[in-house]
This record gives sequence, structure tokens and C-alpha cells, in this order.
Amino acid sequence: MSGMYEVITPNIDVSRIKGVGPKMAEKLQSIGIYKADDVIFHLPSSYVNQSVVNLNDAEHNDNVTVEGTVKTEPSIAFFRGGKSRLTCFMDVDGIYVKVTFFNQPYLKEKLINGEFARVFGKFNKNKLEINGQRLIFDTDGGYQVRYSLNQQMHAKTFRKFVEAVFENCRFNKDLPEHLKQKYRLMNIREALWHIHFPLNDKVLHEARRTIKFYELYEFQLSLMEKRKQERVYNDHYIIDYDVERLKSFISTLPFELTGDQKRSVNEICRDFKQKISMHRLLQGDVGSGKTIVAGICTYAVKTIGEQTAVMVPTEVLANQHYESFTDTFKDELSVEKLTGTTSRREKAAILERLRNGDIDLLIGTHALIEDDVVFNKLSLIITDEQHRFGVNQRSKLSRKAYRKNVLYMTATPIPRTLSITTFGDMDVSIIREMPKGRKPVETYWRRFDETDKVLEMVKKEVDSGRSAYIVAPLIEESETLDLKNVQEIYHIFAEYFGEETVELIHGKMKPNEKVFGMSRFESLEKKVLVSTTVIEVGVNVPNATFMVIFNAERFGLSTLHQLRGRVGRSDLQSYCVLVSDAHTENAKLRMEIMTSTTDGFELSERDLEMRGPGDYFGVRQSGLPQFKVADITEDYRMLEAAREEAVNVLESSGGKE
Ligand code: ADP
Ligand code: MG
Repeated sequence: MSGMYEVITPNIDVSRIKGVGPKMAEKLQSIGIYKADDVIFHLPSSYVNQSVVNLNDAEHNDNVTVEGTVKTEPSIAFFRGGKSRLTCFMDVDGIYVKVTFFNQPYLKEKLINGEFARVFGKFNKNKLEINGQRLIFDTDGGYQVRYSLNQQMHAKTFRKFVEAVFENCRFNKDLPEHLKQKYRLMNIREALWHIHFPLNDKVLHEARRTIKFYELYEFQLSLMEKRKQERVYNDHYIIDYDVERLKSFISTLPFELTGDQKRSVNEICRDFKQKISMHRLLQGDVGSGKTIVAGICTYAVKTIGEQTAVMVPTEVLANQHYESFTDTFKDELSVEKLTGTTSRREKAAILERLRNGDIDLLIGTHALIEDDVVFNKLSLIITDEQHRFGVNQRSKLSRKAYRKNVLYMTATPIPRTLSITTFGDMDVSIIREMPKGRKPVETYWRRFDETDKVLEMVKKEVDSGRSAYIVAPLIEESETLDLKNVQEIYHIFAEYFGEETVELIHGKMKPNEKVFGMSRFESLEKKVLVSTTVIEVGVNVPNATFMVIFNAERFGLSTLHQLRGRVGRSDLQSYCVLVSDAHTENAKLRMEIMTSTTDGFELSERDLEMRGPGDYFGVRQSGLPQFKVADITEDYRMLEAAREEAVNVLESSGGKE
């Protein structure tokens, strides 16, 4: 936002602002205000509408500013801890009201029997009382404008500087005329002025609307710029795959693709045929069938004799992908796996074949980014659960590419507003539709003292040949005793089912042990898997139809949804039981939401509502901008409009083929 205007005076340091001495400059700097620019973008934190109303028109519980005559000598009652209550009666618009002020005993001197006073406070119409918040003395403008100034200076002082900056600066940036007209927006300078010095609610609202749009538009423009840089056009990027071979390959798949899978494949293949360096996000709920889409694209790349890499965040996931790719694409693709546990001899052999181009698809963990991993012609990079990789790891793999085409896959349904904010620089393909025959997972919420019943339910499923996941948090013994440790849960289940039926996996085990444990569960040698959330990502055991989550209140909606997504992966009816005593309102709400819907996109919207955007991914990871006025959850319509306009700008400036 800086550099929005030129200061006519050559120096734009705060110390050059009229009235700001060295001491004041220091104070301003201590709250992050260094330049004139920062002054006018240090926007008010709140407003108190001081416009006086007639008390006869006020509703119960309104915050009002009223004026009248003090009718009694104020009296003060003091309480323990220095607290106090000041009380007097006033005649306001013919109403005899009791006015109280808590913890402002010094107001006694200002409220003089028989004299005029202006009070801001909350009106209790039933009791004819005003819970006073402040006395108002200065009457300039209808508002008292408040700033967060860290007690460094008075708001009045700060506003003088704001005024001085406005006097001395001219803006060299504004929204394009046609957008201001189309959306009925002010000039940016005008809007900022009204935000600091509002005339009335309507003008203030319009001014804020302008700045919101400006923030969102500027942000979307910067994303578009990034996108332009990513979407490089060059003949070199064309993957001129063999359409006929790809079509006949798709026809050999064991099932018909869903409409969304087809559309996603088409979108990716269209990118392939263009002169574009692909930069695309494939979004789809767990079990929606992203792996098949990835496999088809890998096959397309293979038809021109080039290679694909799939990078995943965990060993378990690497194994899963390896299994499902080799299962489905048996003789069609030569697939290998490289992880931290691959032996040196194996690795040497794989690297050799990779260099020769004998491997079509290499699946692996971070092991893929090591320097000695050299591809023959790497032309498609797929990362699963991309937000789990750092930027460095991703770009290290990109540098190995012969033709850089990147497909990010995520099983975390992202609310649309967030998706166009955080992934606005990418093209997006979405799989919403689940494969045919899937039944929604029946979900229940049970208390701890109902664990016996839960055991019975699990037994019924296991007896009929199905598998069950039991998830429990791993916690140190020193933590709250209420929480059921994964070990403890394991013992309960092992006792009930017998150790030969129950497997235990937790995050503190060695990768190898986890892999063996997983494979016993996958091969149905063990029907019950007790684990921490290590199974959160990507595991696929279609025989599993039961999921129990202990201390479910410890998990956010998106994690609960991911966990539940481990079941319901076949045409069998599946079940999920959340075991929780849910002591807080928030926890109860999460349990209720989970039992009421299985739609990942709906859940993600509710999650965003509950947590707010900053917390949704963690601000740092998401690179979410901190807007001053805009709120991407509330202002999503405007966000979409701003995005559309930014896209138009990009396209008219020749960014498209
Ligand atoms: P995701 O990676 O999106 O979580 P997967 O690709 O692992 O989902 O698919 C989940 C399961 O659904 C797999 O067993 C897969 O074989 C199956 N599947 C995928 N697409 C279809 C389809 N169109 N019809 C039927 N089953 C499908
Ligand atoms: Mg998957």
C-alpha cells in the first residue's frame, strides 16, 4: 500500500510532518508509523456515533448519545478492588432516567446538578436506565473516532497529523475510472479522508466500501501478476501427447470416470497441448478420485516418452500411492518408489533407470529433491497435499524439470473465498462429485461413558468382516488426565478383541514400524487399527467401514473430516463415531456440524466461519494478506468482483494466448 501518493515536500519521513517533533516521531515509530503514508493508512479502530438522538425514539439496548439536565447530586459507591459506581438522575427529552457510570469516579465533578450533560451509553428501556460509557464534551462532527495508538498519544493529536498529511500530499494512485463508475466508488483519497473524518454513517459506509474494493483489487492484481509470471508461454512447454492412445487407455480403466474427473482431465490435457507452463490446483474431497486423474495425466506424458514425479509428504502416503498406481496402471506405466527407507542398492538401481528414462513415474517423499535424483525428461510434477511442503522443497523439485508443468493436489476442500485468495495465482480444477454408489458416512456423537456401546458397534462390523480405524490423540502423561492416551485406548481394544486383531500405530514409532503396522491392517491380517492422526493423509483401505475418533473435540472440523474420509471408500455403508464430552460450546458446535453433513465444501465454509480466515491455514502458511478494512469471509462477493476485474485487466494486457 505504500507509495500511493507523492508528498510535495521532498521528505516523507514522519518527522517532516507539520507538528511532529523528534519525540513525537519516535512515538509514531514505536507503533509502526514511519512514513507519511503510514499515517493515513493507520485507520480508525472504531467509531462512536455522537449524533444526539431523542431518547423517546430509542429502542431497548440501543447505544445512544443523548443530552439533558442533571437532576440530582451524583453519588458514588466504592467496591472491593478499586471498583466504583457513580449514579445520578437526568431529565432527557422529558424522560427521568437513572444514569450510572462504572469505574469513572472522576466524572462526579463533571456532572453538576442542574446543568447540561451529554452522555453516551446503553439504554435500558424497561428500567429507564442508561449504562453510561462516557461523557461527551467536544462536538465536532457526529463521531468520536478512535485509533489504536498504544497510549502513545491522544487521538486528537494523531488526527492533526492525519490532516497535515492530507494537506501536503497528492495521490498518484487510484482505482481505474471505469471501475469507480461501475461499482459507484469514491476516489481513494476522498475515501480515506472520510474514513478519518466521517460525516455520517452513509458516507462512512461508502468510504469503507471503496477502500475494501481497493484492497481486494490490488491484492488480486498482484496475484494475477504472479500468475502471469508462472504461466509462461513457450513452444517448449507443449506436451504433444498421443490423444488416441490416451483415449484407448482410459477405456481400459475398471470404471467410468465421473463428470468432474473427465472435466479435470480435459482441463489438464488442454494445458498440456498449449504453450503453457502449467500451474494448476486439483481440488477434491478425500475419495473423490484424484489419483485416477493424476494417473491418466501421467500416461499422457508417457506417450511422448517423458516422465512424471509425484511428491507426497509421508512415507505411508508414498506407499499408498505406489500401491494404487501400480494396481490400476499395472502394465501401462513403469512405476517406482523412492523414500527415506529405500535401501542404497535399490536406490542406485532406481536412479540409473530414472536417468535412462526407463521409469515413467517416480513416487516419493522429500527423497525426490536430493541432488543425486536425476530424471531423463521430467515433464510433469505432481505434489499431493502441497501445503505441507515448503516453497523451497517445491522449487527444488521444479528445477529438475525438463518441461515445467505442475499439478498440485489437495484433499482439503477450500472455501471458494479462500481458494481465490490463496490460490488466486493458479488455475483450479475441482472434483465435487463422488464416484457412483458412495453412501454418506453415518456419523454419531457419543460420550466417554458410552465407550462400551461403541465397542459393541465396532465388534458387529468386525464380525461381519469389516475393518475399523480407532483414532486417539497422543499425549504426554503430564497433560490433562481426561484425555485418553492412544496407548490406553489400545489396551481397551486389545482386551476386548484380543491382541491378534488389533494393531497400534503412533507418531513416535519408527517409519519402518509404521509401514509394517499399516500393511498388516491393509492386508486385513489385523482388523482394528488404533492410531494417532498419522493416518490422516491419503490412506486407502476400502474394507474399512468404521471410524472411531476419541477426544474428537481436540480436532478442528477439517481434520475430523479428513479422518472420516478414511471410511466410506467403497459401496458399503460406513460409520463414524465421535467420542467426546465436548465441554465447550465451540466443541459442541463442531460435533453437531460433523453429524449433520458429510459435504467437505460445506464443512470448510463452516470451518472458515468458526475460525476466521487467519486461523484457517495458519497465516504464515497461507500467505493470507492482512487487509485493513476488507474481510474475506464477509466481503466475498466483492472479492469475487475484484477478482473478475483483475482477470479482465490481465487478459486485455495480452496475458492470454
Ligand atoms: P482421492 O485420491 O481423491 O482421495 P482416490 O483416487 O484414492 O481418491 O480414489 C478413491 C477410491 O475411489 C479408489 O479406490 C478409486 O479406485 C475409486 N475410484 C476413483 N474414481 C472412481 C470412479 N470414477 N468410479 C468408481 N470408483 C472410483
Ligand atoms: Mg489420494
